[in-house]
Amino acid sequence: MGLLSLGTPLPWEEAKKHADHVRKHGIVQFLNIWNRIKTRRKDHLLWGDEIEYIVVKYNDEEKGVKVSLHAHDALEKLQVLELDHIAKGEVFESSWKPEYGRYMLEGTPGLPYGYTLDDILGVEENMIRRRRLATSMLRPGEAVLTLTNFPRLGSCGFTDPPSNATPDAGASMSFFIPNEAINPHARFPTLTANIRLRRGSKVAINMPIYKDKNTPSPWREPNPSCLTNHCTKSLPAAIAAGCSNGHAEETAEAVKKLNKDSLPSLPDLVPDALPDHIYMDAMCFGMGCCCLQVTFQACSVEEARLLYDQLAVVTPIMMALSAGAPIFRGYLADVDCRWNVISGSVDDRTIEERGLKPLEHSKFRIKKSRYDSISNYLSPGPMYSGGCNTPDVANIPLEKLASIPSKGMEFYKDEYNDLDTVYDKDIYRQLVDGGVDDLLAKHYAHLFIRDPLVVFQELLEQDDELSSDHFENIQSTNWQSMRFKPPPPSAPHIGWRVEFRSMEIQLTDHENAAFSIFVVLLVRAILSFDLNLYIPLSKVDENMQRAHSRDAVHREKFWFRRNCIGDPNRKLGDLGCKCPRVAHQTVAEAVYGAPYVNGVDHGNEDAYEEMTVNEIMNGKPSTNFIGLTNLVRRYLHIHQPAISEATRTKLEAYIDVISRKASGELKTSATWIRDFVAAHPGYKGDSVVSEEVAYDLCKAVENLAEKRVEGLNC
Ligand code: ADP
Ligand code: MG
Ligand code: MG
Ligand code: MG
Ligand code: MG
Repeated sequence: MGLLSLGTPLPWEEAKKHADHVRKHGIVQFLNIWNRIKTRRKDHLLWGDEIEYIVVKYNDEEKGVKVSLHAHDALEKLQVLELDHIAKGEVFESSWKPEYGRYMLEGTPGLPYGYTLDDILGVEENMIRRRRLATSMLRPGEAVLTLTNFPRLGSCGFTDPPSNATPDAGASMSFFIPNEAINPHARFPTLTANIRLRRGSKVAINMPIYKDKNTPSPWREPNPSCLTNHCTKSLPAAIAAGCSNGHAEETAEAVKKLNKDSLPSLPDLVPDALPDHIYMDAMCFGMGCCCLQVTFQACSVEEARLLYDQLAVVTPIMMALSAGAPIFRGYLADVDCRWNVISGSVDDRTIEERGLKPLEHSKFRIKKSRYDSISNYLSPGPMYSGGCNTPDVANIPLEKLASIPSKGMEFYKDEYNDLDTVYDKDIYRQLVDGGVDDLLAKHYAHLFIRDPLVVFQELLEQDDELSSDHFENIQSTNWQSMRFKPPPPSAPHIGWRVEFRSMEIQLTDHENAAFSIFVVLLVRAILSFDLNLYIPLSKVDENMQRAHSRDAVHREKFWFRRNCIGDPNRKLGDLGCKCPRVAHQTVAEAVYGAPYVNGVDHGNEDAYEEMTVNEIMNGKPSTNFIGLTNLVRRYLHIHQPAISEATRTKLEAYIDVISRKASGELKTSATWIRDFVAAHPGYKGDSVVSEEVAYDLCKAVENLAEKRVEGLNC
């Protein structure tokens, strides 16, 4: 969830008055960082994962399962343990952070991993120990799960201890999510309330219901009994207050209907709820989900920008492979991922910004939520410092570098940035005048069209040389598929980082390690073969939507470059490889095992086409497309010849998980969960996931993780 500032958060009416102040100083803070370290180079390729956990509480007699709000106490114990070690000057092997749900934990390695393969081999063990440590802090009957979404989040009575939603009060005014489910740290309820207030209504998320053999069609959700039990009296007021989402007349109509003796179905009552959809009305439905993120430190700002762009293309593909969220609010959905739910759950755009009314009070029409896919490629940019893989620039004086194109910069074309992204012209000017190039200036001028959502009274006045708090306020509430992270001024040892943010959490540590390690190895392959994955960003966005759909791995195709070898004739030595054994080889020789031959179909330059996930990952022989898993294997073959057989076997096992998920030999988490529900004797084929089914599902997921099952076999 980014940084947690401490202090007194201002209510929205106050906070919004300071938006320009925060933005202006945020950019000054960025410029100070930029001018201090844009020329930094030779940082190591460090990296680290983030795993989010859900803590559940079982009732074995009644086959009940709830999210445990006591997870918050476990988090405090974990953080005390961590601080004890730090106070003694020791490194603790894991680090623990709060997350949105009071029932959630976030764990990372205590220190980032280094760049050796030995470090990579410790990842799964670290994840296993993190799970054990978190489990050791729990109360009896509780368990830690890596499940993207708690299947009955927002269903009646889903918390332990029990708590009730308050649709006419509290941070989210949700019909389904009690305040107690939200992390009590001031930042979280304030974020929730201010998103709702800025938007002018509650968030409205509708995911299509999965129509099973006994699901009525059209499907109109009956009113959940918790809604009628706990808030009948205040319901009309609550609907009017919370759901005036540009539908004032419908709201009035719906409220009139409440005078009847029995309540109509949910879509009849709540204008924002669509028939044939699972309706969700609170931030918790998205931010209360668990994901797997991986952060990389690049050796220079150019390399960070290069990785940001190249990895952005891969985010939808890895999302489809990692899909793990087929159930929302106790119903099977016709989607497999959390992405659009979380995107909708923090969509603070006003009616005008969403384009439902002409611009009058708001400044911009904005196409995407704050939580969405990236809207700008950065390109490696002009050379400020020289990537460390570019040996020939090492001796060029820094002031001359900015006129030289960076490695990989020739791959970027303006036509790839085809989203017509809105940006703040004044902020763009402030950045360009401060010495930032066009594309990076546009990137931040786009992020800074947003308002700061949580403004702490105590932090309004800052020393812009020493703090990046105003900058981070906006930066870290732009939750995009990739994040470009400048180092904080307080940590001069940290370099430029990029974060890969699209993956869903996996059920087992082996799979979480496999997904993390695969992205790490792909980063190595991108850098050492100078891969070119660019396609227009509008196609990446299309891929994102396709990745979200049910069983996308089997049922969808994705836009991808036909040829991702940037320059087949370039020598590895020119790309920074110092090993005399292979430095003279060309990229084509390294990748294909043969020199590049003109006329052989390696795909037209810049052509892209629709491929299955299997083709993208495992190759498409008919067009000589090698596939990302094979590129990673070639990287290991060429650059890591000295690794032991045991190491190679272990790494291959991780690559194999990805390769077999892509081919369909292993199930995605979402498919495994769907199949579990479908086969459960308590499931009636009506899309309803009862508490009994959810109980058995959670137990099965817990067992899978404990037994360290290698994969989800079909
Ligand atoms: P956020 O929540 O803002 O994304 P976190 O602090 O939770 O960030 O951690 C992100 C990950 O980055 C962790 O796995 C951590 O180990 C890793 N990390 C920390 N420092 C570095 C660094 N210098 N380079 C690469 N990764 C790092
Ligand atoms: Mg997190
Ligand atoms: Mg984190
Ligand atoms: Mg985070
Ligand atoms: Mg993160």
